[in-house]
Amino acid sequence: MIRITCPHCGPRDQAEFSYAGDATRARRADPATATAADWHDYVYLRDNPPGPHLEFWHHIHGCRRYVKVLRDVTSHEVLACGWPDAELEVPR
Ligand SMILES: [Zn+2]
Repeated sequence: MIRITCPHCGPRDQAEFSYAGDATRARRADPATATAADWHDYVYLRDNPPGPHLEFWHHIHGCRRYVKVLRDVTSHEVLACGWPDAELEVPR
């Protein structure tokens, strides 16, 4: 079981959340200049490294806010949680 600490609601079961994506992907500054290949890379291609990873989760069955989660994708251990703009340090 994964327990995610929502900054608004406190510790909750992962079943209350929906995965909302990779929190390390920066949006393009000027999307109008992106080529089809750039969009393909942005939308479909992902690194999948083992270990700690930053993710967005949506507290869909709670406050409906977004949470940034630092989770070890190998063990599923949640290492840190915060608001989406929080700077969570990824151990290397
Ligand atoms: Zn919440």
